[in-house]
Amino acid sequence: MLRFARRHVEHAKGKRHSGKMQMSDFEPLAVLEQVNAQLAASKDARVALCQVLGILGDWFSCAQAGLWRLDKTGHMLQLAATMHEGDDLPEHVLPSQGLLAAALDRGEPVMLDAVKAEGGDALCREAGFVQALAVPVWWHGRVVGVLALFDYSERACSAPEVGVVGLVAGYLGAMLSADSLTEELASERERWRRLQHTIRRVLTLTDVEESLQEAVEATQALGWHKVALAIFDGEGAIERVYAVGISEEELAEYPTYLVPAAIWAQVNSGALEWAYRQGLYCVWPSEPDSLRWQPDDLVFAVLRVRGEKAIGVLRLDAPMGGLRPAPEALRPIDILATQIAYLVENARLVQQASQSADMLAQQVEELSMMHRADRELSTHLDVDRVMSLTMDWALRRTGADTGLLMLTTEDGRGLIPSVTMGYIDYDIFPYDVQHPFPIEQGIMGRAARTGKAQLVRNVRADRDYIPFIPAARSFLSVPLSMRGEVLGVLALASAQLDAFDEADVHFLERLGRRAAVALDNARLFRRVEQMANDMATLYFATQAITSTLERDAMLQRIAEAMTTALECSSAIIFDYQPAAVDVQVLAVYRLEEAVESREVLPEVQETIPIPTFPALQTVIEQQSPMVLRVADPSISQLDRQYMLEDRIHTMIFLPLLTQDELLGVAVVVEGRHDRVFSPNEISKAETLASQAAVALRQSMLYSEVLELEKLKSEMIRMASHDLRNPLNNIMGYIELLAYSLSPDGPTPDQEQYLDNLRRSAQTMGSLLEDLLTLERIESQREEGWTTFDFAGLVTEVVEEHRSSAELKQHALRFFCPPGLPSVHGSVIQIRQAVANLVSNAIKYTPDGGEIRVVLSCDGERLMLEVIDNGYGISKERQARIFERFYRAKEPGTDHISGTGLGLSLVKTVIERHGGQVWFTSELGEGSTFGFWLPAVLSEE
Ligand code: ADP
Repeated sequence: MLRFARRHVEHAKGKRHSGKMQMSDFEPLAVLEQVNAQLAASKDARVALCQVLGILGDWFSCAQAGLWRLDKTGHMLQLAATMHEGDDLPEHVLPSQGLLAAALDRGEPVMLDAVKAEGGDALCREAGFVQALAVPVWWHGRVVGVLALFDYSERACSAPEVGVVGLVAGYLGAMLSADSLTEELASERERWRRLQHTIRRVLTLTDVEESLQEAVEATQALGWHKVALAIFDGEGAIERVYAVGISEEELAEYPTYLVPAAIWAQVNSGALEWAYRQGLYCVWPSEPDSLRWQPDDLVFAVLRVRGEKAIGVLRLDAPMGGLRPAPEALRPIDILATQIAYLVENARLVQQASQSADMLAQQVEELSMMHRADRELSTHLDVDRVMSLTMDWALRRTGADTGLLMLTTEDGRGLIPSVTMGYIDYDIFPYDVQHPFPIEQGIMGRAARTGKAQLVRNVRADRDYIPFIPAARSFLSVPLSMRGEVLGVLALASAQLDAFDEADVHFLERLGRRAAVALDNARLFRRVEQMANDMATLYFATQAITSTLERDAMLQRIAEAMTTALECSSAIIFDYQPAAVDVQVLAVYRLEEAVESREVLPEVQETIPIPTFPALQTVIEQQSPMVLRVADPSISQLDRQYMLEDRIHTMIFLPLLTQDELLGVAVVVEGRHDRVFSPNEISKAETLASQAAVALRQSMLYSEVLELEKLKSEMIRMASHDLRNPLNNIMGYIELLAYSLSPDGPTPDQEQYLDNLRRSAQTMGSLLEDLLTLERIESQREEGWTTFDFAGLVTEVVEEHRSSAELKQHALRFFCPPGLPSVHGSVIQIRQAVANLVSNAIKYTPDGGEIRVVLSCDGERLMLEVIDNGYGISKERQARIFERFYRAKEPGTDHISGTGLGLSLVKTVIERHGGQVWFTSELGEGSTFGFWLPAVLSEE
């Protein structure tokens, strides 16, 4: 899907040029404002989506509208919202061909006409839609869905109309993604809930056999039809097989180790690591790229306890839903498999313990402790509690005085103290989340680096030793590892020399492995939670940003959203102009609650020379984010000076980029304390920045369009007024000239020249009149509107045109049923609209034609049709017929004079009155132009 990336911005840029003159034919700003208001007001993404489609559909006056979301696989479009409740658009669409596919594929708006050559669109054909527009929905540089509008009648869409639909689609992107992520998170949460529940149940059973059967069934419930578990004995031979969903005969067909011998050999020789995902082996021999499950697919987990010999295999077959499992579906199975391994291990220990009376007490205690820890974990996922329990027990069991548990940071380069027991000198050991203990140092660092237990009989003899436990003489530290990753380090210290022996090492290692399972489990769960929180923050931030089109308000919101999303104390937005030497401050936000923040912030409009701030310069040059900490010794002298002067601890610079254009830089500031951003936080900030950049770009485009619009109206008004007087002069002088040319009147040649002059001046005059009328209609609304007899008005217009029709030997017929309702509006404007249609029909029909003017009413609307059998308009010219100044030059119409403004005026007038204009035409056969207007229904 990456090939679509970011082409929408290009499209938005192109639109600026193509849409210049027609903007006032409708109210794009009003629509966008309504959409913004709706987005800002609604808390429920799904409801908001439907409401936005409603607004868009009403404005576009189309019959139906649908929004489809591209599913996770990118192979299916799912209906996410419709314009009306109960619209019967298809729930699922395979985007392989047709209109929606074309929009996805090209990454830009596509009209139904554009796919005619490729066989049209099946959806439209079946539903009887004659016109349709599909627009891709983007989010964060990716196409995430398609928005489509459908209509039963042929109608034109202007470039700006398409542009507005595109902009609205841009807003919907964030909503659509948030909605689908919420759904994904819900299913992820459900998976975790089920897993926890199972583990709890498995652990409370006293009988191992029963527990294992339960575990196999639980695995099945995670989405598989068939599950088999083989447990090996001490020699590696199969001891027992548990299965669900597999018949006796089928099971007999399974290979000895549940997986084929060749594969099993590869597992043992380490040659199968390429197939290792999320703790399971996934071997997909045929169609590796397919998403569907194939008959020879193999998914299995190898159960190990000490990371050494396998004690069993868990094999999964026939996934429910028929798709190969996604990585997130494998994770819970891995955890369950680990639990099963420990269950078996526990059972073995009990057995061994019963053989030696001496060890019994100790091992039973160990077992019961582990059992307790497991239960604690599965009920609360409270890692601190489990770790405290573990630590407490480790101290009692080994006789150590002090214990410390440290957890690895996300980037794996440091350790953070988590649980301590006993006395630690924090002056020597001043580490916390913001300042992790470097993994290169100390005995604990060594354990983390090597992944091996470190037994130090005399700390003074160890050059890595850091004396943060003042009384310590001997030291023992083990890594907490899971799947080759060190999650933390557990350390014990004693005031006695040589206090720990090999048995303690083994014990602590065993304990460490259990603790690692707990940690891993909790960590994964925390990630899911984190993801949910991040999504919510991003979603609300995006909503806040896009809920206005006004640039200054938007900038302010971007600054605020970034500050809160990153939990910092303030934010500054800088404007950037290509090749400029300064940046200008556009917006500043300071978190009100951050009273203790003392950072000095610039004023809005202040400029900062880029070279005085090297970090900013680097960000502008490289266009990538950057974090600057005053505590970091490697930062430049100038940067440090700047930060110290302004009392700033940490800043994160985020370029505001759309496509490859840099619009500005957002700087999020922490002035209260030093702050280290995790990779996750930085990527969250980047997402927000790119979303902000798109919104900013849209608001900029809009202010440009508004400016242009104002300028254009002003120009037209001025030009037409200023030209009218000189034109009247010219006309006067033409007549004067004719009169004074010679005593016998002008010669035939001169007469011809004069006629040409008169005609040109008249054309100019009507052009000016049309322009002025159009401007007047657009700028004033509903002044002097009355309720009037529409049929009477049309009768008058037809009669007025009778003589010009007769001049061309046309038959002009008028059909009007009696008792038609009235219309409310401007008599002058509507008269002009009707007159334009009738005179066009007369003009664009060769002599001796037939013109019919037909009135009708469907109860709520009055309909006017003007039908001629004239020149007609070819298909390729029809789309632009309502554009200002557009004239369809068909064969035979060259001699007909006109301004190309008449139809645009008709459309504007009729739409101002709440009606709609349409036409059909066939080249060489004739045209029908018509409109409907809302009728004024008499109250009875
Ligand atoms: P004009 O001043 O050129 O008549 P309009 O805006 O009224 O401008 O019409 C735009 C174009 O639409 C015309 O130039 C003509 O090509 C076409 N057109 C309008 N009405 C008809 C009709 N009844 N039959 C054929 N073509 C028409």
